[in-house]
Amino acid sequence: MTKASVPIPSVDEVLRGEAGRVVVARFGHAATLRTVRAALDDLRALSRHSALPHASREDTAATIAARAAEGLEAEDAPRLRRVLNLTGTVLHTNLGRAVLAEEAVTAAAAAMRAPAALEFDLESGSRGERDDIVRGLICELTGAEDAVLVNNNASAILLVLNTLALGKESIVSRGELIEIGGSFRMPDIMARAGTRLREIGTTNRTHLRDYTDAIGPETAMLLKVHTSNYLVQGFTKEVGTNELAVLAREKHLPLVDDLGSGTLIDLAKYGLRRERTVQDALKDGADLVTFSGDKLLGGPQAGFIVGRRDLVRACAKNPIKRAVRLDKIRLAALEATLKLYRDPDRLPDRLPTLGYLTRPLDDIRAQAERVEGPLARTMGDLFDVAICDCTSQIGSGALPLETIPSAGLAMTPRARKQSGRQLEALAGAFRRLPVPVIGHIEKGALVFDLRCLDAETLFVEQLEKLTIVRSEAEAEP
Ligand SMILES: *Cc1c(COP(=O)(O)O)cnc(C)c1O
Repeated sequence: MTKASVPIPSVDEVLRGEAGRVVVARFGHAATLRTVRAALDDLRALSRHSALPHASREDTAATIAARAAEGLEAEDAPRLRRVLNLTGTVLHTNLGRAVLAEEAVTAAAAAMRAPAALEFDLESGSRGERDDIVRGLICELTGAEDAVLVNNNASAILLVLNTLALGKESIVSRGELIEIGGSFRMPDIMARAGTRLREIGTTNRTHLRDYTDAIGPETAMLLKVHTSNYLVQGFTKEVGTNELAVLAREKHLPLVDDLGSGTLIDLAKYGLRRERTVQDALKDGADLVTFSGDKLLGGPQAGFIVGRRDLVRACAKNPIKRAVRLDKIRLAALEATLKLYRDPDRLPDRLPTLGYLTRPLDDIRAQAERVEGPLARTMGDLFDVAICDCTSQIGSGALPLETIPSAGLAMTPRARKQSGRQLEALAGAFRRLPVPVIGHIEKGALVFDLRCLDAETLFVEQLEKLTIVRSEAEAEP
């Protein structure tokens, strides 16, 4: 049998055709040319091996242009995708931690659009310091003497250790040698910062005399680290910042308190469990306090070093500061975020992180009731949908064992067979939506905790695009 030959258009014909011109206008000549060439190569290879349905050159050119457009569109889609965080973890490190306040978004956009007096004193016309932009605000809010800002809290710790303890010893309790996430391990950071770690006490108990005994001529500082993602419980003893401060003063050593999340407000006022604030740490006598910008503070990624002026100035002068400084975009966002703290009453309405954390349970339940129907219709007879109790977490190491009662929706496979794979398929289908929806699988169900669902309409409207579930789940052997 002879193969019917298909008239294959030239690259030029495709580019000059009506559909081709539209693609060029959208993606540019170079990218379109590259994709059209590849599509034509594919077509040639295909026509050598199989008979293709007959089509005119013009139609083939249009088909090739359409294929090129599809490829270019897929290439062009942003890699950093917006998602709906229905995991129940409000500050989810893998999902970008804090959602910023509108005020912060506006300020960051303005800083991107036009030149800004970042390191320029408008009063005198001379060079300024970028951290001056927020120093006053930070000191006003925390009661600190001085402040310096860096890329994140890991940088803050690196900078503090390298500035105050280079070539000398830093004393840390064994109960506080934390690992957070993949590669942030306190001992590793200390080694890279050029300070020797002097571990004291035991995992569960460290006494004041352990600190006293360890202090010697090589000691440069005492470091206290918030055990962000675990609790040491049972037969335990740790030495508080206030007790350590007395010792540090007596021995003329700086005391550094790494708070991790670092909140500026008393969370108990908002019905959450109280977490030690930055002000508490300073009042307890810490000379320097370090904390993150994108955890409980609810701002952009940043690291704060606040406290005694001479120590803060020394950090600011360290050449490493330049390597870990903040950019204008985040400084703008941070300034706007911090300003919101001047009005604590309105904070839950304006700061998304606090808004999510304080969202009333009734409100979340009511939302679950609204969304249940549309979701159940989408699931058809494949999954049962039920409103369920959830326990949200703050995340990012704030109040590690604290959970907040919440509500959500649980999707359970009707057929017991292969239910694990059905759940994985369903979770995958939600992840492939235009705005991926991320939940978690728990006790044989895919669970969406609705605490952070502020885009309800989007969630519901997208459900119709989830048709893939049916074919995938049914295709299970
Ligand atoms: C989160 C955390 C860090 C790291 O902060 P990043 O801002 O993520 O760099 C350091 N120390 C503690 C105690 C933390 O909780």
